[in-house]
Amino acid sequence: MSDKAIRKIVIVGGGTAGWMTAAPLALKLGAACEIVLIESPEIGTVGVGEATLPSIRYYNQTLGLDAADFVKKTHATFKLGIEFKDWGHLGNRFFHGFGDFGPAIENRPAYMYWLRLARDNKNMPSYEEWSVATAMARANRFTAPYGDRPSPTNAFSYAFHFDAGLYAAYLREYAMARGVERVEGMICDVEQHPETGFITAVRLSDGRRVEGDLFVDCSGFRGLLIEGVYKAGYDDWSAMLPCNSAQAVPCAKADRLTPFTTSTARGAGWTWRIPLQHRTGNGHVYCDGFTSDDEAAEALLAGLDGAALDTPRQLRFKTGRRRKSWIKNCVAIGLSSGFLEPLESTSINMIEQTVGWLVQFFPDRDCRPALAGEFNRLVSQRYEFLRDFIILHYKLTNRDDTEFWRYCRNMPVPDNLQHQIDLFRDSSRVAILDQQGFLEDSWASILLGHGIIPEKNDPFIDLMDAGQLAEHFRKIRASIRQAVDAMPDHAAFVDDVVSDEPAGRRAA
Ligand SMILES: Cc1cc2nc3c(=O)[nH]c(=O)nc-3n(C[C@H](O)[C@H](O)[C@H](O)COP(=O)(O)OP(=O)(O)OC[C@H]3O[C@@H](n4cnc5c(N)ncnc54)[C@H](O)[C@@H]3O)c2cc1C
Repeated sequence: MSDKAIRKIVIVGGGTAGWMTAAPLALKLGAACEIVLIESPEIGTVGVGEATLPSIRYYNQTLGLDAADFVKKTHATFKLGIEFKDWGHLGNRFFHGFGDFGPAIENRPAYMYWLRLARDNKNMPSYEEWSVATAMARANRFTAPYGDRPSPTNAFSYAFHFDAGLYAAYLREYAMARGVERVEGMICDVEQHPETGFITAVRLSDGRRVEGDLFVDCSGFRGLLIEGVYKAGYDDWSAMLPCNSAQAVPCAKADRLTPFTTSTARGAGWTWRIPLQHRTGNGHVYCDGFTSDDEAAEALLAGLDGAALDTPRQLRFKTGRRRKSWIKNCVAIGLSSGFLEPLESTSINMIEQTVGWLVQFFPDRDCRPALAGEFNRLVSQRYEFLRDFIILHYKLTNRDDTEFWRYCRNMPVPDNLQHQIDLFRDSSRVAILDQQGFLEDSWASILLGHGIIPEKNDPFIDLMDAGQLAEHFRKIRASIRQAVDAMPDHAAFVDDVVSDEPAGRRAA
């Protein structure tokens, strides 16, 4: 290693972001670098991130975690996507599944061919019948995709629902076994180099001092270092994503262990339902300018499908992004770098991404500004892509039953998003601006789910023989149904995975 190599990293914060940062750094750096993580039990963690995207599996695999052990220790269940209720209009129901709507034909996604058939045939079954993930979710079944070769019945992916506290504890154990030192204490002061402005040490309220070369700010919404020390600034996006409050409450688990998250639109926001092995997580995300906290709690508790196990916990947030996430020798990861409401489970995914970029652009002790610049460019851009995808859900609504939904329908949206909506409405095409983010079929799920039917078909698709196309779709639908019918029930699959039988341990 060079004589300028980072010798000591200090991670500030022991929430999901802190431990998700500590684990891969410990794995990659080993004995070459000392890693200290400081957390304050007095402050605690947000601890409500329980739904993920499929990328979490690759993050876990990179650490070499045993999938069955992970499912067992974090009380995880499998997630095939999100069921949206009452979003487009009251009574509207659609599913955003992980996967496509059938195999692409001549480089065009299958939903475009479905649109052609549905235009001529009013009895055409819903496009969702060609999504394997959706068919599995509706039948309450789950199995992992087999092999590496995608096929029409294997074209789905999956993520997890897990207990956020148990996941952080799981990673803590992993990171500490690889040498990470955990310090309990409250940081009350920060020392900086008088000339460079680099952070040199943090001071704890009991007088201890922790020095470091690189400081990772995982201190949550407060952004103790990135904002407290460097005044990075914050882009406030609440005009386009007005929800600013949440209440969360666990309830007794339901009889049916569903392999998906449910998001139900409410008068001034939406509620989530996340099934875990031992309980169901619930929450209400809302804008306090359009409803009161008491009304929000009432709506949340009235919608539970089991006995509440606690009183609702109040959370406040401001949707937006820190203007810079890396300044000098301080890198912000997690809520300290920004927050988008949890509608599409993007926060933990963003942590995976930013930890990956930190590893990719890992600096020397001089922390060259170009590295920070590239990191900041990627983080800023990614936040904007994700923001636009979430705004889409609100903007497309036809609901006008409350002031909140009338506001969402009429609010201006970013140019890129307006372009995306116009492109789809006009031509059924989707622009892929973010290669690593939500892809064509995800955008189509939300647009079609809200009832947006494009005005024109693709001219090449119009040239195809409709009879042959219909037969192709019929066959695929029949094979999806047959494959799903043969899959185990989700609860049975989870039981199999967490059992100590060797067969179960292979299943995840
Ligand atoms: C309502 C809601 C629902 C969510 N649902 C999801 C979801 O379903 N899926 C998803 O991906 N994400 C979700 N998220 C986001 C997810 O919870 C966070 O991204 C994740 O928990 C990371 O938080 P964090 O570690 O950045 O911050 P925190 O959990 O806030 O951790 C901050 C840490 O910093 C420490 N700290 C702070 N100040 C000091 C100090 N002065 N001295 C010492 N230590 C200090 C604290 O002790 C704590 O350990 C949700 C968020 C909210 C608000």
